[in-house]
Amino acid sequence: MTYKEPAPLSKTHLNPFESMMSRFDIAAKALGLDDSSYNVLKSPAKVVMVNLPVVMDNGKVQVFEGYRVVHNANLGPSKGGIRYSMDVNLDEVKALAAWMTWKCAVVGIPYGGGKGGVKCDPRSMSKGELERLTRAYTVSMIDVFGPEKDIPAPDMGTGPQEMAWLMDEYSKIKGYSCPAVVTGKPLVLGGSLGRVEATGRGVMVTARSAMAKMGINPVGATCAVQGFGNVGSISAKLLATQGLKIVAISDVTGGYYNAEGINIEEAIAYRDRNQGTLEGFKADRISNNELLTLDVTVLVPAAMEDQITAENANDIKAKLIVEGANGPTSWNADEILNGKGIMVVPDILANAGGVTVSYFEWVQNRLGYYWTEERVNRRADRTMKMAFEAVYAAAQKYNVSWRIAAYVVSIDKVANTQKFRGVF
Ligand code: GLU
Repeated sequence: MTYKEPAPLSKTHLNPFESMMSRFDIAAKALGLDDSSYNVLKSPAKVVMVNLPVVMDNGKVQVFEGYRVVHNANLGPSKGGIRYSMDVNLDEVKALAAWMTWKCAVVGIPYGGGKGGVKCDPRSMSKGELERLTRAYTVSMIDVFGPEKDIPAPDMGTGPQEMAWLMDEYSKIKGYSCPAVVTGKPLVLGGSLGRVEATGRGVMVTARSAMAKMGINPVGATCAVQGFGNVGSISAKLLATQGLKIVAISDVTGGYYNAEGINIEEAIAYRDRNQGTLEGFKADRISNNELLTLDVTVLVPAAMEDQITAENANDIKAKLIVEGANGPTSWNADEILNGKGIMVVPDILANAGGVTVSYFEWVQNRLGYYWTEERVNRRADRTMKMAFEAVYAAAQKYNVSWRIAAYVVSIDKVANTQKFRGVF
């Protein structure tokens, strides 16, 4: 599948790094984290900024800002996607890199956290321009990336094609084929079966675990999904297979509502025939905010950061929020949601299925032995279920929300490695 995440929906101006830190601070306090560990974990280990000159189709050279941030590499090589979007900025990449550290730790895979981004509008660029940009970015990051050092993957605005160019450019410079330098590759280049569906699948698995704890029967429960890129569309499709009725979906073109339930397979087929958007899809039109505040059982924000904020959190009616996107709830909405008794499966747990299968892809590349889709899915589902249970148990133990519990579990793990390894 070569479908790419759509361009971002509009967002309010909140600093995602501050959002991440506010949760980190609460969890660090609950855990009684010592000052030394706190000081190390609060800042990224490495920040690389580059300017990338690219010859555009009109013959002119355009210069793009590129970033790669390694937040922490205590548990293993840093891991995390590359985002192509006009909203990319250093604070966002720093937050996303830290979220990757916590995400990998919460599901127990041997990686640290990193993230990259290029400030560009991929939708307005030709395939040739995107290829030249991706190759230029790879060359600039040649000493940062590496199968044992820092392993990129797709994120918003990038997909298997960009990963293939990255792998090719990196391999050319090294002089041999290095599939393990990047994950989310096309299958023929060493991608893993199940990787495309992995994030949405993890959303479905953790949503099921949460519903079981809350005594909600998935059959007949209603659901709204914000965002119809890889994560949103596949989450919707898989939740529908569990008996949930998906009454609303949305993308850059706005929201689509049908009280009888939307046929998600049809919506995906429509999007794929329609240049990647739902424009013209047959359903009642609703606004982005109407979708978020619908009276549904489950809400899946799977678009981008800061969609549920102090401004709209009071109007949210869902019983359960499962965060397919990274950082969709701003820090100042947490308390409002908690006060209303709305349960949240936080991003660093809910969307960790993607990086879990990225880990399986990297393992397969290094083994040179490829698994069946059934094996990938079985292991990923088990990982996600175990992670949910660990977070649930920590929430009981520390008497905190599932979000803070997820931070507690992961910060504890990363801080513990530091105790054994020391700092240099
Ligand atoms: N970009 C995805 C995320 O935010 C996947 C990262 C990866 O597979 O390394 O989790």
